[in-house]
Amino acid sequence: MSSISIDVAVIGGGVIGMAIALRLRSDGHEVVVIEPNEPGSGASYGNAGTIADYAVIPVGTPSVLRNFVSLLLDTNSPLSIRSSALPTLFPWLTRFAYESLPHRYRQNTRRIAELLSGASAAWTEFAAEIGASDLLSAKGCLYLYETQKAFKAAGADIALRCGYGVAQELLSAGEVLQLEPRLPPFEGGGLFFPGAINFSDPGEVMRRLSAAVRQAGVEFIPASAQEIVRQPNGIRIIAAPFEIRTRTAVISAGAHSRRLAAQIDDPVQLDTERGYHVEFDMAEPPIERPVCPTAYGFYFCPMWGRLRVAGLVELGGLAAPATPRLVENLAENARRIFPDLGEPSRTWFGFRPSMPNSVPVIRPSKGGSDVILAFGHGHIGLTLAPRTAQLVSALVAT
Ligand SMILES: Cc1cc2nc3c(=O)[nH]c(=O)nc-3n(C[C@H](O)[C@H](O)[C@H](O)COP(=O)(O)OP(=O)(O)OC[C@H]3O[C@@H](n4cnc5c(N)ncnc54)[C@H](O)[C@@H]3O)c2cc1C
Repeated sequence: MSSISIDVAVIGGGVIGMAIALRLRSDGHEVVVIEPNEPGSGASYGNAGTIADYAVIPVGTPSVLRNFVSLLLDTNSPLSIRSSALPTLFPWLTRFAYESLPHRYRQNTRRIAELLSGASAAWTEFAAEIGASDLLSAKGCLYLYETQKAFKAAGADIALRCGYGVAQELLSAGEVLQLEPRLPPFEGGGLFFPGAINFSDPGEVMRRLSAAVRQAGVEFIPASAQEIVRQPNGIRIIAAPFEIRTRTAVISAGAHSRRLAAQIDDPVQLDTERGYHVEFDMAEPPIERPVCPTAYGFYFCPMWGRLRVAGLVELGGLAAPATPRLVENLAENARRIFPDLGEPSRTWFGFRPSMPNSVPVIRPSKGGSDVILAFGHGHIGLTLAPRTAQLVSALVAT
């Protein structure tokens, strides 16, 4: 076994692990990132590319709880569960139901809003640092409510966001079509987040980030961390064929972090909300900014040379393959709005790292700050990467 000694070992090279590694390196630490795959090729590659600092509302809300069963029974809904995963999911679901109760949901919203505050500014700065400013677009983001009933029902969420200072503008259907003239006519309304920014290619952002990490002098160890052990003289990580001895380990392996946290006696209720995207190659996407038709639970994302349609939540664990029906639904629902899209050029599915309360875990482990936990970012991990790196940097410094 090849042995490595280092100040800090970051386990997982998604957007969270890489942002942390870069930050700790600029704080003066010697850092390695343990990552068995191409860095940034997990959830960090396949997302919608929105820096969603407006997304303060957790997945679990009183309304989702009330409608949970009907959402599951509707084969076209954005939420689904693989029945084979139900027994293992049961504790997560029970906790999710509890976290959706009014008092918990309000508290979770407050915690998410605190984390999201300043996320866009932090990313603008971070994008400049990693040479990715040209990939950022600042045209806002649009939610579509296709019926007046759905538009009215969004009132409570709009008021809640208002309370946290989120900039949002209510638009009539006509005003929506002025912003996005290639959308078909509809009768509801829109909600515009004017300050939102987005990336035109999350995969390219990951390539630039990993290049910046390497250039800063951080080595990627091409292996999977199998075991993490706390010893009197530090932390030992087995990532065959490597053995890494370190003063501080950061667990940031996205949806795969639960097993590693359990090994240092810090069990967490992390699971995954599986997400999907389909892409349609085209010279000019039909929209200028991310547009979310809320009934379908996905985003149309204008990207370089293609339109990406990304979203859905499937509860189904890490082992099962993608569900073909969901990919078909995604493409079919996209064609309900843009009928000329044709067949997708490519499809993808991946694993959001999700806590039942939608609040990421960013803290020292229960056994001490020699192991730091940084995972569970759910739907807003891209958005929160620079902020998470700042928080972890402060934890390593103390
Ligand atoms: C369809 C979809 C749309 C989304 N849209 C958005 C959006 O618009 N905005 C937003 O902010 N967020 C969005 N997200 C969420 C966001 O993509 C994730 O929260 C974020 O990418 C999580 O980053 P991560 O680094 O924790 O995980 P990942 O990117 O999954 O990285 C984890 C890494 O850990 C590695 N790993 C796993 N096990 C081990 C091990 N044992 N040892 C070493 N390494 C290991 C994996 O190989 C992987 O590279 C979306 C997600 C999906 C699925």
